Amino acid sequence: MAQPLILLANTAMPIVENGLAQHFKLRKAYETPEMDTSALAAEVQGVTLFQVPIDAAFLDKFPNLKIVANFSVGYDCVDTEACAARNIMVTNTPDVLTEEVADTAIGLMISAVRQFGGAERWVQSGQWASKGPYPLSPGTLRGRTLGVYGLGSIGKAIAKRAEAFGMSICYHGRSRQMGVDYAYCETLVELAECCDTVMVATPGTPENQNAISDDVLKALGANGVLVNIGRGSVVDEPALIRALDGGIILGAGLDVFANEPHVPPALLNCGNVVVLPHIGSASIYTRDAMGQLVVDNLVSWFETGKAVTPVPETAHLQGK
Ligand code: NAP
Repeated sequence: MAQPLILLANTAMPIVENGLAQHFKLRKAYETPEMDTSALAAEVQGVTLFQVPIDAAFLDKFPNLKIVANFSVGYDCVDTEACAARNIMVTNTPDVLTEEVADTAIGLMISAVRQFGGAERWVQSGQWASKGPYPLSPGTLRGRTLGVYGLGSIGKAIAKRAEAFGMSICYHGRSRQMGVDYAYCETLVELAECCDTVMVATPGTPENQNAISDDVLKALGANGVLVNIGRGSVVDEPALIRALDGGIILGAGLDVFANEPHVPPALLNCGNVVVLPHIGSASIYTRDAMGQLVVDNLVSWFETGKAVTPVPETAHLQGK
């Protein structure tokens, strides 16, 4: 049987490229710009991607596409409704990145509360030597309560770590979870009122766009810290900037932004904001595990008709 043709929508890690090359014919979209209009387009049966928009117009160019394998657990860039309507399987890379992302979230939270970003710039710019010690941080982890928005795999791994720091935990999601002892808050405003550190660990969806609003930040209060490890679209960035500027909240730690890689200038070089370039899962160890899962999904789909980690919206589809 002829090997299916897989399109790499953007640069893939060696573990993905080499792993796929053992089972499939490969084409790189970035090396073949005319790909989607050539006769080859009809041969494409699978696509791999990392944060590339896959919408209905993209799918229309590849009439025999059977699977979209996303190199990430968040798949907000893929129109899953359009894929499901065309019987195209969509996969993501859950679980293998959970612990790494939770580690990053905790690092970001401590950095934001204790203002490590400003402190590091103090050393780097020579001010420690010229001006003396860095000012005491107004924030401390002592006595803090963590409010997790999105108590999924990553949210739970963050909460477990935060418990070890002596933090109290509460959470908000679309529904209360059975078998979870943390206090459940019915709304995001209630969550912000119940805690002083909000941790966003949800996907970015149309329903929760700008969910961290003026009202939520006001409820978080003057000792409040917002950490976003989920998706930038969940936070109303202009509202966040107003809250930081006006002392409505104490600080923020942000790994994700609404319009990456562009970060609003008002969030840069602030003593009370720590910014990271979306590196939640970005270690070689974890990215290799994610890459292997992309390969496993494609191989399994074409060999058995089943994906290893289908997203819920296409989990009902069978390949054979
Ligand atoms: P997960 O296990 O599916 O958990 C997602 C949680 O979000 C669920 O507990 C869900 O709880 C909650 N949620 C709240 N509003 C939601 C909505 N509108 N739609 C769907 N779920 C909603 O996923 P995960 O593995 O923990 O990953 C969570 C997210 O983290 C990913 O989707 C991604 O956006 C982000 N992420 C970021 C990085 C990074 O590098 N910064 C890395 C990996 C993942 P309810 O069902 O109770 O609402």
